[in-house]
Amino acid sequence: MTSRTTGLQWPDIRCGSGFDAHVFDPQRPLFLAGLEFPEEPGLKGHSDADVLAHALVDALLGAAGLGDIGRHFPPGDPQWAGAGGSSLLAATMIKVRTQGYELMNADLTLIGERPKIAPHRKVMAANLARALDAPPEAVNLKATTTEGLGFAGRREGLAALACVLLIGRRHPE
Ligand code: MG
Repeated sequence: MTSRTTGLQWPDIRCGSGFDAHVFDPQRPLFLAGLEFPEEPGLKGHSDADVLAHALVDALLGAAGLGDIGRHFPPGDPQWAGAGGSSLLAATMIKVRTQGYELMNADLTLIGERPKIAPHRKVMAANLARALDAPPEAVNLKATTTEGLGFAGRREGLAALACVLLIGRRHPE
């Protein structure tokens, strides 16, 4: 694409950011990046409340100029009740590719005191990449606590941030 300010040809690259948060619900299973954590309290939500998958969906939709997760997967829509994060991601990536974009990379941060994801990080990142039909190296996953601050610090719930870069398939002319 041509830069409007310089007239130079640039690859058609677009960034997107996503954020999600869910409150703990001990009656539900915990799914993060498609992996179940059987010993941990789950998260409340209309679908499986996978905060990592949801933040990533929002980042992808944002980068592609397609709005947000609520527009494409409205709460209350029976089609997506209890849906797994992986199915939302797969459906999102179809929309992104229909717009002419491919994923370059995604970087995600889980925010919370627990669970500790270090032993599972590789599997979780691979789950996300598989759902996106992207190579494993395209997805990076990390985690942080808030040192006791805020809702995540009080162990009331979990949050996640995601950042993606998309590249247009028709680049440059
Ligand atoms: Mg959510």
